[in-house]
Amino acid sequence: MQILLIDDDPLALKLLARQLEHLGCVDVALCGDASEALTLLETQAETIRMVFCDLQMPDIDGVEIVRHLARIRYRGSLVLISGEDGRILQTAHKLAQAHSIHALGAMQKPISLEQLRQVLASDARRSAAPARPAHRPCAPDELRRAIARGELVNHYQPKVDLASGAPSGVETLVRWQHPQAGLVFPDRFVAMAEECGLIDDLTRAVLAGALRQARLWRDSGLQLQVAVNVSMDNLAALDFPDVVAQLATEAGVALSSLTLEVTESRLMKDARAPLDILARFRLKHVGLSIDDFGTGHSSLAQLRDIPFDELKLDRSFVHGAADDSSLKAIVEGILAMARQLGMKTVAEGVEDRADWDLLRDLGCDVAQGYFIARPMPGGDLPGWLAAWEQRRREMMAASP
Ligand code: C2E
Ligand code: MG
Ligand code: MG
Repeated sequence: MQILLIDDDPLALKLLARQLEHLGCVDVALCGDASEALTLLETQAETIRMVFCDLQMPDIDGVEIVRHLARIRYRGSLVLISGEDGRILQTAHKLAQAHSIHALGAMQKPISLEQLRQVLASDARRSAAPARPAHRPCAPDELRRAIARGELVNHYQPKVDLASGAPSGVETLVRWQHPQAGLVFPDRFVAMAEECGLIDDLTRAVLAGALRQARLWRDSGLQLQVAVNVSMDNLAALDFPDVVAQLATEAGVALSSLTLEVTESRLMKDARAPLDILARFRLKHVGLSIDDFGTGHSSLAQLRDIPFDELKLDRSFVHGAADDSSLKAIVEGILAMARQLGMKTVAEGVEDRADWDLLRDLGCDVAQGYFIARPMPGGDLPGWLAAWEQRRREMMAASP
């Protein structure tokens, strides 16, 4: 067995099975009874690659199934389906993700063949994609040495203007080129750097590298706005703007071509130093961007208090917004507010053409995401720019 369908409605079961068959899925088991499905899952979980589960069932509902899947550490994919309000479906989907279940989608009945095709394709991509290498949590000393030895490397992800498709800048994303573990992603070490007092060293290394790279690009005729992520913890030392100004002078790059993306991972206790520092950055014409807007502490209070000139819509609102009326309403609301505040808007997590088209139609200024490009080493950028120019022309010709 590869795919298990759970739904108390026999007609819905048959219809879904027929559609899957049409798409070439042969090993499909149908289950009209949720407790029977649970037994199957407990005894044969290894053979089940995908579960489609209805939310509204009489004895055991879909939310309870999600809980059971988490308990048995189900490792396949899950698709939730329902005739209920889309927001309940989204909540159940989020619940599955919170349990670390691979929730591929939440679909409202009736399900179209195209939706199914997409969900099967993303399951196939998931099986094919190499997992990010697991890496044991590193020790602070190891990270300290890595920074000193220059093992941190910058990758750069392009940002492009939605109206014209023209590249407007890059975001710098740090990686750790670990001698044994290979490329380690920032979710493995940035929080630790913050906790162990290493974030200033880390940020300095990233900034210096980004400014040097900006100079190289400029010398080869590329004018790109370069963004660097800073942590709230960087905004404690009052001389930070002077340190950055010094680095920019050394690299020979104007401060106006630098943007700092600020995220607040924890609540700001004492606002005095951050406000002092951020106000001085703006006086020096450094761009200030509020990152991951709409999540955590990236909030309206910060917009009120800090002179941000750019707002980055968090990717959790962006990808899939074209098919989700709640997300779309949130995106529209944020864009309208940013426009009134005179801020530039950047959408992160633009993963496909539907995301691109929607953000463009809604008047968002800039897009960033896998649809455009993955983060890459600085030296790869000229090659990407040439390839993008070709793609851009085709896209613009198709939808002027
Ligand atoms: P962020 O600033 O929100 O950066 C965007 C993250 O989203 C990057 O992950 C990027 O690779 C990923 N991403 C880009 N496009 C897409 C997309 O279309 N779909 C999806 N699902 N993801 C996309 P990455 O590189 O793993 O960085 C994670 C976070 O680590 C960053 O989130 C940022 O908060 C932090 N970070 C990265 N570099 C630095 C740094 O130098 N300093 C500090 N303080 N934090 C950093
Ligand atoms: Mg960022
Ligand atoms: Mg972000």
